[in-house]
Amino acid sequence: MPEPSTDIPGQSDAARVGSSPSTPSPSSLAPHTLATRVTSAGRAFGDVIQTANLPVHRASTVLFDSLAQAEVAGRDATAGLHHVSSYATAGTATTMALMDALAEIEGGGHACRAALMPSGLAAITTALFAFLKPGDHLLMPDAVYGPARVFATGMLARYGVETTFYEAGAPIEPLLRDTTRIIYLESPGSYTFEIQDVPAICALARSRGIMTMIDNAWASPIFARPFDWGVDASILPLTKYWSGHSDVLMGAVVIRDALWPTLWTAVRQLGMCVGGDDAWLILRGLRTAEVRMRQHERSALQVARWLAQRPQVSRVLHPALPEFPSHALWKRDFNGSSGLFSFELAPGVLADDPVRRAAQLAALCEGRRHFGIGYSWGGFESLIVPAKIGTLRTARPWSGGQLIRLNIGLESPQDLIEDLAQGLDRLRG
Ligand SMILES: *Cc1c(COP(=O)(O)O)cnc(C)c1O
Repeated sequence: MPEPSTDIPGQSDAARVGSSPSTPSPSSLAPHTLATRVTSAGRAFGDVIQTANLPVHRASTVLFDSLAQAEVAGRDATAGLHHVSSYATAGTATTMALMDALAEIEGGGHACRAALMPSGLAAITTALFAFLKPGDHLLMPDAVYGPARVFATGMLARYGVETTFYEAGAPIEPLLRDTTRIIYLESPGSYTFEIQDVPAICALARSRGIMTMIDNAWASPIFARPFDWGVDASILPLTKYWSGHSDVLMGAVVIRDALWPTLWTAVRQLGMCVGGDDAWLILRGLRTAEVRMRQHERSALQVARWLAQRPQVSRVLHPALPEFPSHALWKRDFNGSSGLFSFELAPGVLADDPVRRAAQLAALCEGRRHFGIGYSWGGFESLIVPAKIGTLRTARPWSGGQLIRLNIGLESPQDLIEDLAQGLDRLRG
């Protein structure tokens, strides 16, 4: 039996292994050679075939040609230089392609950078942690995404940051302190969809040297341009409309260039990063984002207008409906509306008795043909969930009726309306 070659296969060897009929089969190789072969084979392909989509880089290790290059890369990656990585937690070609896309599209022509986080909530917490210190004061809207409120009153409070929750539309200036460091915005608000006067708040913040951050989940960059409004940072739960397919979790912070080093330092110290497969899925979702968003908008408006006519519904909380209280701000600032809104059940529709009431809500939401019961949103599939905001409002405790939140997916709106009609009928019975 011939002694198999023990050289480490390079490009030419890899080609030979693939083409030569006399190549020994793996089982005939000596064990020490097999170990080298399995770690080396097929690694010399290179990016020689052009495809419409980038390849997925699955990586932990980043390789260098020299020690000097490794050292420079380490230093430059720590500083957050563009397209530099020393280790895949700092980025790969796949994650950097997504970072570029975010900076370009969400940045909307402003000089911005983007960092990726493993979820939308991680983007919120990392952005806040990056810029707050003990003794600082934070302003958050009362209708902020629930887990962001929990982070502020939990971990941020434990680290000596005080948060004041403000009502959307109420004057901000009286709430400002010398220690106010960040005004956090979310427009429209979670579950109740109040639109904030973001440009006015950003102008006030800037005149006082206060940073502004906005959660731009609902509109996505397709319908809103937060950097035109003057925000310093935008938080994107990519899990929602950027993905669009309910199959991946990710978030991003898009931030003005000048603030990038502070954010990036926190990202690196906290170890925030994402994998190539997930980044690739978000890039794929992005390709159809514009047409998906337009369809979500059309369908949601059709369902919302139908709901507004139902006797069981006292009002529909959708910023694009003219009767919505902050509709004028939506009309001034947004380019469209997405597929997420709520409706309020009319007084008297639900029983006072909590057991009977729970059965009625189950009758409305369960057994729908086209609406799943679930908390996320922004995907292709419709969802229904009763809002539980009792503990989530402190500036002004919720005094309205029971809210039902809908995520209008890409099904035919007529089918969705028939499905909801059946649910509303069961509610009555
Ligand atoms: C879902 C959501 C988030 C968080 O995104 P995840 O990726 O689910 O962590 C943040 N803000 C708003 C407004 C959301 O609806």
